[in-house]
Amino acid sequence: MTQDVESLMALTPPWQTLAWPALDTSLQVLRLDQIDPVISGNKSYKLGLNLRQAQAQAAKQVISFGGAYSNHIHALAAAGQALGLKTLGVIRGEPHYASNPCLADAQAMGMQLHFVDRKTYAKRYQAEYWQGLEQQFGASYIVPEGGANVLGSQGCQPIAEAINRRFKTACDVFIASGTGTTAVGIASALQANSRLHVVNVLPQPESFEQDFTRQVAALNPAAQSTVSFVNAYHLGGYAKFNSASVALMDFAQQQWQLPLEPIYTAKAFSAFIDHAITQHERPQVFIHSGGLQGLRGCHKKIDSCRRQDGYQSSLARYQTAILDAREEGVLCPI
Ligand SMILES: *Cc1c(COP(=O)(O)O)cnc(C)c1O
Repeated sequence: MTQDVESLMALTPPWQTLAWPALDTSLQVLRLDQIDPVISGNKSYKLGLNLRQAQAQAAKQVISFGGAYSNHIHALAAAGQALGLKTLGVIRGEPHYASNPCLADAQAMGMQLHFVDRKTYAKRYQAEYWQGLEQQFGASYIVPEGGANVLGSQGCQPIAEAINRRFKTACDVFIASGTGTTAVGIASALQANSRLHVVNVLPQPESFEQDFTRQVAALNPAAQSTVSFVNAYHLGGYAKFNSASVALMDFAQQQWQLPLEPIYTAKAFSAFIDHAITQHERPQVFIHSGGLQGLRGCHKKIDSCRRQDGYQSSLARYQTAILDAREEGVLCPI
């Protein structure tokens, strides 16, 4: 069934309230993972304006880039199918990856996959490489890896607007950040005095914060939110996680039926919980940025984390904290 891009961009995410009996407050979650059964998470926001642009240019095909479990590639394939747009994914890795659940989905949704080695993939930002791709596969609209461009950030402003509408007062807002594209868009549109906590899921170069601030100002010179960069929760690198991450995922699922995954949302949720437990005068908002399809790529490691020593003690710590807020301090050890 073909949808148009406007209705895709008009999808609104539901809210979930998390009860925390020991605190006389509740925590608010904006469930971007639930905007649509197939096209989910922050990636769909980053794609919206890009796909509108592709259609405006009458592009026959959209090309983008990603790893073997890329949420972005998955979302692009889904959006392409919904909109009747041909999609091609340039994938870092070998052709046999095509049978993994993420890429099998992408192919089933009509995406053509083009596998390249690391050296070739490293050229993914070069104009010359893009021209070569167009020569090989036909004229296309090209979206950078992760949907990381200005239209990607701008497409995320409605996430902030949804928060502004729900809370008339300033709040603390937490989001997982990889490239920062999503957080830039949110920071540019969040109401005055609200604070966006940008939880980096990997160590960032020194230039990251300046670049971020510059991009926010470029999108909206009158932006009024404040931004905190949170660097203590990346666990050593992108996609690195441990038994405490898995304990938090299992706890959130058991306690609130809130599904998380270890690459992005568990790291941000960990920072969120640590903050909310000590500071909850104003609304505490967690943006669930999606990514749950990626869980299918890390079941083995998750299972092995559950068998490690730290798992039970971490789980017990959460279970105690929810009933007894006097157990204060940092819950999520790094
Ligand atoms: C890609 C992704 C992010 C990071 O988004 P950026 O715009 O690159 O910062 C966060 N959460 C999930 C679930 C993602 O898939």
